[in-house]
Amino acid sequence: SSSNTYIFFVFGASGDLAKKKIYPTLWWLYRDGLLPENIIFIGYARSALTVEKVFQNCEKYMKLQDSERDLYKKFISINSYVSGSYDNPKDFQRLHNEANKIAKEETANRLFYLALPPSVYGSVSELISSNCRPKEPAWLRLIVEKPFGKDLESSNNLSKHLSKHYKEEEIYRIDHYLGKEMVQNLVVLRFANRIFSRVWNRDSIAAIIIIFKEDIGTQGRGGYFDEFGIIRDVIQNHLMQILSIVAMEAPRSTKGEDIRDEKVKVLRRIQPIKMEDVTLGQYVGDKNSSNEEHRKGYLDDEGVPKDSKTPTFAQVVMHINNERWDGVPFILRGGKALNEKKAEVRIQFRDMPGSMFEVDGEKTARDELVIRVQPNEAIYLKMNNKRPGEMGFRVEETELDLTYNERYQGVKLPDAYERLILDVFMGHQINFVRSDELEEAWRIVTPVLSEIDDKNNKNVNVIPYPFGSSGLQEAFDICSKYDYTYSGTYVWKDERSN
Ligand code: NAP
Ligand code: NAP
Repeated sequence: SSSNTYIFFVFGASGDLAKKKIYPTLWWLYRDGLLPENIIFIGYARSALTVEKVFQNCEKYMKLQDSERDLYKKFISINSYVSGSYDNPKDFQRLHNEANKIAKEETANRLFYLALPPSVYGSVSELISSNCRPKEPAWLRLIVEKPFGKDLESSNNLSKHLSKHYKEEEIYRIDHYLGKEMVQNLVVLRFANRIFSRVWNRDSIAAIIIIFKEDIGTQGRGGYFDEFGIIRDVIQNHLMQILSIVAMEAPRSTKGEDIRDEKVKVLRRIQPIKMEDVTLGQYVGDKNSSNEEHRKGYLDDEGVPKDSKTPTFAQVVMHINNERWDGVPFILRGGKALNEKKAEVRIQFRDMPGSMFEVDGEKTARDELVIRVQPNEAIYLKMNNKRPGEMGFRVEETELDLTYNERYQGVKLPDAYERLILDVFMGHQINFVRSDELEEAWRIVTPVLSEIDDKNNKNVNVIPYPFGSSGLQEAFDICSKYDYTYSGTYVWKDERSN
């Protein structure tokens, strides 16, 4: 049987992701007693650091309570730091020997988190596999962060490289949206409720919209963002992952491979997006805003080329060619520097046929199920109701509302990274992206990406929008062309009482 000792390696321990996310997450899991007892942590990067320095960098993200100080010291004491290159096998042998020495055995299970720029993924993954594998029967698991390539070809090359050195069950590609409570809940919502499962198809559903909005701009990281753009940043990964769960057929079981099989099957039925189904935007400063950040546009961000056409907003429409979804548009919309921060799924149902409540040809509002992923998790079903207290049958839009912080008071929803790192310890791949899913997602977006990247392409129209806009009218117009109905008549109770 396999050892019960574990070594968690953080590659890029000097970096941004390590200090903001990985070390804090490891500490919270340790603090809450969720990690195995025999565990040690080793940070690795080129910088000449010490454990003390690494933890100084992270301190302000740790949310430390005074009462936790002693435990925190204990946590630090099981951390080490090794400095070395990303391309010299000798450094990896040294790391391997050091790890064996600290663990006092050669059969400790090993987890490697690569928090590194993509330029070094290739050499690092190869050198880990050839120099740092534990003795059998211990296992090795590799956690990798996006970007997984820039297009179909580069992503396939990376996958091929990884598969030369690792088995698929050793690779954990993080898409942190898969660690979010509401995204995980989609499977239960769909397949444990007859009231939804019977209508989850083209007969009842008019359109599905998956939305990501941010109320901040690139905030000095524009140089990094400019190489990618919003389609690669959120649509190809996070929103398409959500799409595949919303649209897949019922898996045989809740096992990881069964679910991933169904996700990839539905992606295979999607044709590459057409340019006519794409709306692009780039934010410009809002000169009249009292908020200083809002007065700056994307092109004002240092590091962004002054003639950049990189989209910071995009809406794409996808069509799934199968019996369940033929004709139903899946609209994926993502944007930065908008009026609010949220991520949600909207399932809009068809008109009520032969409604006796139509007044002067005015249809009654459509039912719409909204699953809000963040912030403030909620599921609400917009529906029609008799206006209470009135004589007769005046119809009014209202909602059935499941707001998590009211219904589940005091329940702590773990952070996405906490769940995902625990999943890796347990060997659950359900919430990680398999190579065939990744390939399908890139296949669908790559043709329009290469059109957008071509600076001389006259077909590409990037529409300027002011920082803080609620959206682009051009994108809303495409929604209505695809039969998503917006009347603006729905009023939420918080607004009603004002
Ligand atoms: P980072 O801070 O730029 O880089 C991490 C470490 O890699 C650095 O501390 C540096 O360590 C080394 N490094 C940086 N540039 C290098 C280069 N050109 N060649 C070789 N080594 C270099 O990156 P990060 O923000 O932590 O992100 C790590 C990975 O996670 C990236 O792939 C990123 O796309 C992804 N990611 C980041 C975030 C985030 O919030 N930051 C979110 C999602 C995904 P040494 O110089 O000490 O070796
Ligand atoms: P809504 O205001 O009717 O918006 C419905 C959708 O239409 C949104 O996705 C909106 O885009 C989009 N839209 C806006 N203008 C449009 C246009 N001109 N053409 C086409 N589409 C357009 O209804 P709602 O957003 O579902 O609810 C309104 C408010 O009530 C929200 O703030 C919501 O959070 C709140 N509410 C909260 C709860 C709860 O907390 N449990 C429950 C119910 C409602 P955007 O997504 O870009 O806005």
